[in-house]
Formats: sequence, C-alpha cells, structure tokens
Amino acid sequence: VPRSSDVELPVIPSGYSRPRFNQAIESLRSLIGPENIELNDKPLDDGWYLEHPNTHDAFHLVEQEEMVSAATVYPASTEEVVHIVRWANEFEIPIYAISMGRNLGYGGAAARVRGSVIVDLGKRMTKILDINPDMCTCLLEPGVSFYALYEEIQRRGYEHLWIDVPDLGGGSVLGNTVDRGVGYTPYGNHFECHSGMEVVLPTGEVIRTGMGALPGNNTWQVFPYGFGPYADGIFTQSNFGIVTKIGMTLMPNPGGSEGFMCTFKEEEDLAQIIEVVRPLRIKNILENVAQLKHVVQEVALLGKPRTHWYQGKGQVPLKRLREIASTLPCGDCSWVYYGNVYGPKKNRDEKLKIIRDSFETVPGARWIPRDSLPKDHYMFSREKIASGVPEFDELRWLNWHKNGSHVFFSPVSAPRGEDAMKLFNIAKKWHDECDLDSFPACCIGLREMYIIVNMVYDRGDPVSKANAYRCMRGMIKDAAAAGFGEYRTHLLLSDQVAGTYSWNNNALMRFHESIKDTLDPNGILAPGRNGIWPKKYRNKGWEL
Ligand code: ADP
Repeated sequence: VPRSSDVELPVIPSGYSRPRFNQAIESLRSLIGPENIELNDKPLDDGWYLEHPNTHDAFHLVEQEEMVSAATVYPASTEEVVHIVRWANEFEIPIYAISMGRNLGYGGAAARVRGSVIVDLGKRMTKILDINPDMCTCLLEPGVSFYALYEEIQRRGYEHLWIDVPDLGGGSVLGNTVDRGVGYTPYGNHFECHSGMEVVLPTGEVIRTGMGALPGNNTWQVFPYGFGPYADGIFTQSNFGIVTKIGMTLMPNPGGSEGFMCTFKEEEDLAQIIEVVRPLRIKNILENVAQLKHVVQEVALLGKPRTHWYQGKGQVPLKRLREIASTLPCGDCSWVYYGNVYGPKKNRDEKLKIIRDSFETVPGARWIPRDSLPKDHYMFSREKIASGVPEFDELRWLNWHKNGSHVFFSPVSAPRGEDAMKLFNIAKKWHDECDLDSFPACCIGLREMYIIVNMVYDRGDPVSKANAYRCMRGMIKDAAAAGFGEYRTHLLLSDQVAGTYSWNNNALMRFHESIKDTLDPNGILAPGRNGIWPKKYRNKGWEL
C-alpha cells in the first residue's frame, strides 16, 4: 500500500527543518558509509515475525504512520556507535537503538518519537565474541539471536552447555536482557544471569561495567559487580546508554529434562493453584518459570481463527472453550499447567511425585502423562523451551484474528491466590468492556508472579485497535489502584505505567530524569523510552 501523499517522506522529527535533516543524513553517510543508511521513504510493510520491519511498530496499536522512523543506520562496531551518538548530538536528532527489533507486543522496532533515526545493531554487530566452556559464560554483540547462540554451541559440540530462551527464539539475547525479559530454564531471569556490559553513553563515552573496568582482567563474565556502585541496572529499560556487548552465564546441562502437564477444572481454581505452586517454586522443586495457561490458549494454539469456533462478540464463553477442550488431550478444563523437571531420571521422578501429589490436592486436577500426548502436542514445544532449545510454536495463536497482532499486559504480583484472582478479574472486566479475547498466563518467577495477559487484536481494524488500547489503559489504571504495577510495557503505555510508580511525589522518576539530563544533556537517546523524557521534551505535550 503506498503511503499517503499527505506525508512528506521520510518523516522527520517534529519541528526539525528538512534541509538540516538532509545535511545531517549526508554527514551520517560520510561517517558510516552510504550503504549502511536507509531512509524510511518506501511503503511500510508489517512483515511477519522472521521478516519484521525496523521502520515502524509491526503490531501497530495506533495509526501505522504514527510510530515511523526517518531512517535506519547499521553500525558495525562500538566505534561506529560512538560516531553515530556524536553525530546525533551535533545535529540534535533523536536516535533509538534496537538489537534485533523483535520486541513484538511491546513496540517492536519502533522509537517512541516519530521521525527518530533507528540505530539497528542487529545487522552487522553479530559476533559471538567468546564462549567459555569451563566457566560456562559467553560474551555477545547485540545481533546474536537465541537461535544463533544455540546453533554455535551445538556447532562447537559443547553438549554440556545450555542457553536460556524466551517463548520465541528469534530475538537478540542482549536486547531481551536489557529489556529485562525472561526465559524458561532455571536461568530464566536474563538480567540476573548476565555479567558485564559495554555501554556507549549518550555523549559518546564508552564504559565497561563490573570487572570490565579493570584492564587485563579475566573475570568480566564471572563477577558481575566489580567495585563501587552497580551500574548495570540503569542501562536496562532505560535510555541512558547503548549496550554494545553483554556477558551471559550459561547453564550447565543438568543431565536430563522432562516436561509435564496438569489441568485444572474451574476458572476459580486459579487462587488455589497459585497457593499450591508457591511453596514448590520457592523451595526450588519447581525449578523454572513455569506457566499456567488459560484454556483459551489450548484452543487458539490449534491455529484456527476465532470465528471458526465462535461467532459472538466479546470473549469466547468459557463453556464453549471447555466444550472444544474436551475434544483435545487437555480435556474439559479451565487451566493448563506446563512445567518441567531437571536432572537424571531418578531425581526427576522424585520431584514429579512431589509436584503431582501437591497439584492433585486441587479438586478436579488431572495429571496428563507425558507419554500419552501426541508427538506434535504443544507440551513438547514447552519442554524444548524449558530445556533451552529455541522454538516458534507460540506464533500459532496469531491466527486467532485476521491481521493478528498482540500486546502484553504484564503486571507483577506475589504468587498469592488472592492477588492472582484480583488481576485476573481486572483483565476479564476490561476485556468484556472492550469486546476482546483475553489470553492470560501466570508465569511464576521465584517470589514474583507475572500475569501476562496477551491481547490479540486485528491491526487492520481501527475499532479493534482502539479497543485494545483502551483495554490496556483501563487495566493499567485499575491494577495500579489495587497496588499492582507492570514489569514491562508497550512503548505507548510507558508514560502511564511509569506514572503509577509515583511514591513520594514521583521521586523515582525525578531521580531518573536527573540521570537522564546528566548523561544526555541534548536529549538525543530514545526520548520517552520507559517514560523517561529528557529536559528538552518534558511537559511539552509528549507524555501520553
Ligand atoms: P529483541 O529483538 O531482542 O526482542 P529489541 O532489539 O527489540 O529486542 O530490544 C528491545 C528493546 O530494548 C528495544 O526497543 C530498545 O529500546 C532496547 N534495546 C535493545 N537493544 C539495545 C541496546 N543495545 N542498547 C540499549 N537499548 C537497547
């Protein structure tokens, strides 16, 4: 589809002069090479997961044109990133770094400020700089995907090393870690499992954190803290620097891994299930982030559109979902728990027995023997992910709607039955109100739980989009009123979410703003990311 003739292309930052923009691009071409700069002046293509665009948010929640970039630049090294940052300061152009830009459901590859220049690190900075098979660590550039790391470890024959993967394996390990994403082996907390970063600050200064600051060290990837304040946290979910290298710890192969599945009958069982899971998780009998999924996902995973099953408006009634489920291996149920146990068979069997006995204290719980499942069942995809093997199965439920897109509502709570029910009910109320299907899953970390509500909408339908946006805002508001906050959110909802973390007259945000203004006096790096606006933009109508 050609872009509207009302828009002069490429779109440049609001208030910027076009001749100056052209001059800036000329200068960038001479710094990085004309072949490594692309203007965003062609038709926009939403692509799909593997061929995602870096020109806009592929899963647009608002008008597709609202979140477009001016251009993309592809640096090949830290030095080139430094050149780009200095260039952005000289021309006062907003830039936005992505690693691979597959952050779908949270804004994809888009920048918060329209007309920004995207710094796409994923195309040319793809080196696995080190894999240390004795220490079980690695050092990566931003363009290394979970797949690439997995394949390299296999290629080198390091059978004793595992990686940790999120639901979809195509994203960047570094990108996911700096956005504080999670995966599903016992090393699922990616930030906790990193050690050391190299960061280009918004002024062009390069730092190495932790032991990386000590010349001649060989401990950068084994001791994350170094000496003095621990800086790494401020480079996650922020706009304080561009991370160009990251160290990660790798899990040793535990000597065996096995998935399991248990279903629960009633929707209200949620509270009791969480109470049963909590002690098992905190005691580390359940060793990974396991997922309790609503039965709607079993149905959606069949890959058929929603209209195949149900024609009415609003959420598909539970009765109908259970009816469909009764024809599937999960049977008539409301929730499905996908878990995993690790270690040699003897250890696994012991853990499985404890878990099964606990789960079966919930009336109506049904333990489904792994070997009774058909080989293409989703359980085996979960088992692979929980064993550090990248997968794509999760994409199947995008077929639920035409132009299937999704956005995540990701509040954090303690793993308490009562809290889970509160959040579940907030999500349900808003999905009903906005005629949307709700796809909730509870992911239990250790002492924290994320109810990830994945909302699938039709991005080709303005009403569906507007409803998805309204639903998100409503859920965030009600969750905050009940004392819950999100661990991560879509770019467009960052201001609202950041605003809920308001204790003591927004003291935390003012602290972030002081850091921002000190590190980035010209406000060039990712303005507005995670609700942090540089001085130049603050209180000028940018906040949503
Ligand atoms: P992935 O493709 O791995 O899922 P992205 O590359 O989309 O992840 O990264 C997610 C978000 O994290 C981006 O939108 C960006 O704001 C931030 N980010 C990614 N890479 C970097 C980086 N190297 N330095 C700073 N921030 C980054």
